[in-house]
Amino acid sequence: MKQMSEEINRRSQPVCVNSQPVKQLKGVGPKAQERLKRIGITTVQDVLFHLPYKYEDRTQVGAIGTLQPGMQIGVVGYIQTTQLQFGRRRSLVSVIEDGTGRFAIRFFHFNIAQKELLKKGLRIHCFGEIRKGSRLMEMVHPEFRVIADTTNPITDHRLTPYYPTTEGLHQLSMRKIANEALLALDKNNSLVDYLPTAIAKQLRFPDLQTAIRFCHRPSIGTQLDELEAGMHPAQQRLAFEELLAQHLSLRLRRESGSSQSAPPMVTKGHLVEKFFQSLPFQLTQAQQKVTAQISSDLERSYPMHRLVQGDVGSGKTVVAALAALQAIEAGYQVAFMAPTELLAEQHLQTFKQWFTPLGLKINWLSGKLPKKTRTATLSAIKANKISFMVGTHALFQDSVTFSKLGLVIVDEQHRFGVHQRLSMLNKGQHNDKHVHQLIMTATPIPRTLAMAAYADLDCSIIDELPPGRQPVETAVIPHTRRLEIIKRIETACGNGAQAYWVCTLIDESETLECEAAIDTATTLSSTLDNINVGLIHGRMSSTAKASVMSEFKDGKVGLLVATTVIEVGVDVPNASLMIIENAERLGLAQLHQLRGRIGRGTSKSVCVLMYQSPLSEHAKTRLNALRKTGDGFEIARIDLETRGPGELLGTRQTGLVSYRIADLVRDQALLPQVEHVANVMLKKHTTNIQPLISRWVGYAANYADV
Ligand code: ADP
Ligand code: MG
Repeated sequence: MKQMSEEINRRSQPVCVNSQPVKQLKGVGPKAQERLKRIGITTVQDVLFHLPYKYEDRTQVGAIGTLQPGMQIGVVGYIQTTQLQFGRRRSLVSVIEDGTGRFAIRFFHFNIAQKELLKKGLRIHCFGEIRKGSRLMEMVHPEFRVIADTTNPITDHRLTPYYPTTEGLHQLSMRKIANEALLALDKNNSLVDYLPTAIAKQLRFPDLQTAIRFCHRPSIGTQLDELEAGMHPAQQRLAFEELLAQHLSLRLRRESGSSQSAPPMVTKGHLVEKFFQSLPFQLTQAQQKVTAQISSDLERSYPMHRLVQGDVGSGKTVVAALAALQAIEAGYQVAFMAPTELLAEQHLQTFKQWFTPLGLKINWLSGKLPKKTRTATLSAIKANKISFMVGTHALFQDSVTFSKLGLVIVDEQHRFGVHQRLSMLNKGQHNDKHVHQLIMTATPIPRTLAMAAYADLDCSIIDELPPGRQPVETAVIPHTRRLEIIKRIETACGNGAQAYWVCTLIDESETLECEAAIDTATTLSSTLDNINVGLIHGRMSSTAKASVMSEFKDGKVGLLVATTVIEVGVDVPNASLMIIENAERLGLAQLHQLRGRIGRGTSKSVCVLMYQSPLSEHAKTRLNALRKTGDGFEIARIDLETRGPGELLGTRQTGLVSYRIADLVRDQALLPQVEHVANVMLKKHTTNIQPLISRWVGYAANYADV
């Protein structure tokens, strides 16, 4: 009696699902609450947005005579025998028949009680996957229950959902909790729909509650394929909302940027003018356009957040240099960050060459500098004696204090990952003023994707290569033709060209990759008598790396054996041949980057992608794509389709832009609408924005603020 009244009490309290703690739901005690929290569920609303990742159709019973391997199906029949079998592993096997045939259910883990339960002659309903046994079709560890002769075996009238769970939280409990949340939803319809009705109608989306209910409990007859592909309108609606929320949260970040203050850098342009006088080439149209955009950004009194995308070799460095000169002339320091020490070192050389004649002080910082040098450099930065600092992420450590930092340039941002980018943005704050930020990437991403991932940035594209570049010819060749390739190097170097040989072992450790490079260098230098073979890898000291690089630059080294450390930024125009070993293991974007090291001069360049046979169809298509096109955007698109966005955006490690429901590849078609709807909401439905963001991104958005 008491129990019952408690029950009634509990049920009669209306559960407003949006923000009610999950413990309001029947069956959620402290333990379950703790476990749910682990998977990000703290409110009833969270439960509703925690969607199944797959469904099973248990609304059908299959005749045993029609079973095929691979089927997920329910079967009803009578137990003929139950016995222990002693094969390679002991198992408990029951043979079941239903008048159309016989099949077996098998348990490797079982107890006496189970054996007792499966008595001959009983009627049983089991569910599981059919596979071929040695004599009969069978199910291993099916779900099953004994039922009476008169019981209708079908109790499910909906597809059965499977939820992501966590240790200690059983699938069945999760299903019950979801049921309770759905009941609460039915009762008071209090899940607020933040997508304006007119917009949802226009997009032909079902309303939010219908969509949510459907995703949890799809009705019979729904195409499982469509559901599992995530393409049902109900799912698409939720994916849309999630993308919209993510996009809006980045847009808000961007808007809040314009209310911050940053030093306006208005100058006479003397430094820039002087620099142009000594520059041996003219800017391309694209470089001029982007430079002008950056320059006017820098003149404003709020921080620039600009992303420059430009294919490998499009000449981003000089664009960065022009931005730096404007900042320096305005009296500010500039920090230029590169993803690898090797690249930082290369940039140091370039900028020294460019800036020293202008009378500017330049230095660099890396993690590996001797302590004394480091301390001296740090105090020079603090005393504003250095106007341009190059470095790796070591530049942004706490110990580094700039006296008048005004501009931060991040090169090859895709190598840093989203999380690092965002934390850098926050580091950019300086005495209440924010700094201007220029972010450069050679991994062009499709515009729609950029809008999903970089909506907090203004984007510029350098869509033109400097004149005189010849497209790189790319060949895809099996490892067995190694000797032929070595001959080719001999000929090329004999004619005064230079070559790279890239050793890759991406799945293994860096150490193994270095060892492979060392071995290859030894073999190649004994085969190629007349060629000076150099070696560069990540385990060498920075001085050793720098000296090999300068020997290669000066033409003293003809063939440079390298690991993927040379992937970004290395610029030796006379190098016109590149061999990449195990090319099939690398991502397309990465191969494209590597290949971008050649084709920088005026002579014809060749890139050989060497692979270990046999090559899978998938790998063949990918490598062929590289053979056919040199357009970074096109390659990025193919890479996106074959490997997913994590690779392109560098999010794999950080997990920041990870979606609960949306999938950037699958849902690409939604993205233009997302942007459009975001614009409408920013104008007309501003009050809906914050709750929508916290519903979908609340947790990740906080993370971004770290
Ligand atoms: P990336 O965009 O890959 O960083 P870089 O800035 O390293 O490209 O430029 C590649 C090469 O092209 C460099 O040797 C650079 O000096 C040269 N370069 C850049 N802009 C031009 C131009 N407008 N005309 C001729 N050469 C250029
Ligand atoms: Mg570069």
